[in-house]
Amino acid sequence: MAYAEQLCADRGLSFTPLRREVYALICAHGAPLGAYELLDQLKQSRDNAAPVTVYRALEFLVAAGLVHRVAALNAFTACHGHEPGHGGLLLVCKNCSNVFELEDRGIERSISRSAADLAFTTSTDPVEVKGLCQDCQSTAEAS
Ligand SMILES: [Zn+2]
Ligand SMILES: [Zn+2]
Repeated sequence: MAYAEQLCADRGLSFTPLRREVYALICAHGAPLGAYELLDQLKQSRDNAAPVTVYRALEFLVAAGLVHRVAALNAFTACHGHEPGHGGLLLVCKNCSNVFELEDRGIERSISRSAADLAFTTSTDPVEVKGLCQDCQSTAEAS
């Protein structure tokens, strides 16, 4: 949270109480959260929270690089890379929907380079790789 505050201060972004609250909810939740789950949780402290409130806060957090949108799950997860403007490389477990962020700028750069060979500019959306996390592998073996 201190990091997020610093990042917003450094970049002149206003980290409003609402944005702070949405970010805290995402951080507190281990697995990625969907916008409507977030809305439900937010309503516990803010009766008047509407979907648009949540979407605007999420838009801000994604743009600030604090949160990644996980397209495969249509959900949001806190960024662990702490590197502003990075796309991120997310491992998505097909079984439990948990997401792990890989800290490997080399892969991102190599994708961009190969894409550039085709005169293709990559977006900063995270790259998502699907598979099975460690916990789910051991459950699969046990059964
Ligand atoms: Zn990240
Ligand atoms: Zn799993």
